Amino acid sequence: MQITNHMPTSELQALDAAHHMHPFTTASELAQKGARVITQAQGCWLTDSDGTQILDAMAGLWCVNIGYGREELAEAAARQMRELPYYNTFFQTTHVPAIALAQRIAELAPGNLNTVFFASSGSEANDTNLRLIRTYWEAKGQPDRQVIISRWNAYHGSSVGSGSLGGMKGMHAQGGMPIPGIHHIDQPNWWAEGGDMTPKDFGHARALALEQAILAIGPDKVAAFIAEPIQGAGGVIVPPDSYWPEIQRIVDKYGILLVADEVICGFGRTGNWFGSQTMAIRPDIMTIAKGLSSGYQPIGGSVINDEIASVIGKVEFNHGYTYSGHPVACAVALENLRILDEEGIVEKVRNDIGPYLQKQFRALSDHPLVGEAQIVGMMGSIALTPDKSTRASFAAEPGTAGYITRERCFANNVIMRHVYDRMIISPPLIISHDEVDTLISRARLALDEAHEELDAKGLLTKVS
Ligand SMILES: *Cc1c(COP(=O)(O)O)cnc(C)c1O
Repeated sequence: MQITNHMPTSELQALDAAHHMHPFTTASELAQKGARVITQAQGCWLTDSDGTQILDAMAGLWCVNIGYGREELAEAAARQMRELPYYNTFFQTTHVPAIALAQRIAELAPGNLNTVFFASSGSEANDTNLRLIRTYWEAKGQPDRQVIISRWNAYHGSSVGSGSLGGMKGMHAQGGMPIPGIHHIDQPNWWAEGGDMTPKDFGHARALALEQAILAIGPDKVAAFIAEPIQGAGGVIVPPDSYWPEIQRIVDKYGILLVADEVICGFGRTGNWFGSQTMAIRPDIMTIAKGLSSGYQPIGGSVINDEIASVIGKVEFNHGYTYSGHPVACAVALENLRILDEEGIVEKVRNDIGPYLQKQFRALSDHPLVGEAQIVGMMGSIALTPDKSTRASFAAEPGTAGYITRERCFANNVIMRHVYDRMIISPPLIISHDEVDTLISRARLALDEAHEELDAKGLLTKVS
C-alpha cells in the first residue's frame, strides 16, 4: 500500500534532521542516513513512507501489547475528549476515568497493592517512587532510611531521578547522574558475568550481593531495593531461578521495601498480569506504564501497598504532575485492560502463543552465531557470540555484532533491537502463529547474513 498523502520520504527526512532531535541518537549520523518514516500500523505490522510493511517484533518500545489499530481505543479517547478532555486531581477534585482505572488496577494487582499514584510515563512514576519511599520512612519516624539500592544495567527511565535509579553507565556519564543516595549492585547476568559458576550458584551469589550492600551501608539506612522482575532494556536478562527467592528473603529480613519495576513485565508480557507473579515475589510498590495503555496514550503510575498508603496518607505529599490521572489517558488504559481481559490475551501468552513463540525462539540457539536464547512469556533475547562453547565475547567493540545484526533485521523487514551483542524481541501479545513463523524465519535470515558479514570483515574473533 503506497501512502500518497504526504511529501516524499527524502523531504520528510531532511525536515526531520533539520528540526527534530531524537532520543538516544547521534543526530549527525542519523542525518546522513535519514530516519525511517513510519506512517501507519495495524496488528503487528508497521508501514513506512515508501509503503514497505515491517513486522514489529518489539511492539514499539515494548508497549503495544494489544497490537496496533484497535478502533475501541480510538473511540474511548474521542468519547472522553468530548465529555471531559482534561481536569486535574490536585485540589480535592477527581473524575470518573481516574477513579475507574485506579480501582481496576487495584483489582488486578497482587496482594495488598491497592492504591495508585498516576504519572504520564515510567520515568515519572519512578521519580514518584523515589520521593514516596523516602517520605514514607520519614513519616514512619525513620528518616535515616534514605538509600535506595538498584542494579547496574537496570533501566528505570531517563529523567534525572529515574536515570539515577537505573544502572546505565552511559547515561550516568552525561548531566551529573546519579544523584546521591542510590547504590548499585551487580546484575544476575550469568551468560556474561557468571564465569565458571553454575547458574544456580551465580544467581545465589548475585542475590547475596544485596545483603552485603545492606550490611555495608547499614541496615537502618537502607530504604528500598528496586528491580525489574526481568531486566528489559538491559538485554532481557532472565535471572537464574535461585535469584529472586533469595532477594525476597533478604528484603524481608531487613524490612526494606521491594519495588518491582513492572513497566515492561506488567500487563501480560510474562504470561501473568505482572512479572512479580511469574517470579513469585511480593513487591511493596510496582511501577507501571507501557502496556498499561498499550502505548496508545502516555500513562504510568506507582501502585502502593496498604501500609505505605496509610502511613503516607497522614502527611501532605508535595508531589504531582499536571497530567497525573489524565482523563483521556485513563479512559484509553481502561479500554486496553478490558480488551486484555475479555480476549483472554494474558492466558494466551501463558498457554498458547507464548509457548509457541518460546519453542521457535529457543531453536535459534542452534545457529552458529547464537549462544543462549532466553525467553519468558513473550520477552526474549539471544546472545551473539563468536564461540558458544566458552560464552566468549567478540574482540570488536561491544555492540558491533549486535548493530550489524539489527541492520540485517531491518533490511529483512523485521524489527528486533540490539543491546550490545544481545538481540531482543518483545512482540505484540496478539501476534499469530503464522506471524511468529515469519518473525523467526526473518530473524534466521538476518542472523545468516550477519554471520557472513562478520566473517567477511574478520569480526568473528573472540576476546583473548
Ligand atoms: C521504559 C521503562 C521505563 C521508563 O518508562 P518511560 O515511559 O520511557 O519513561 C522504566 N522502567 C522500565 C523497566 C522500562 O522499561
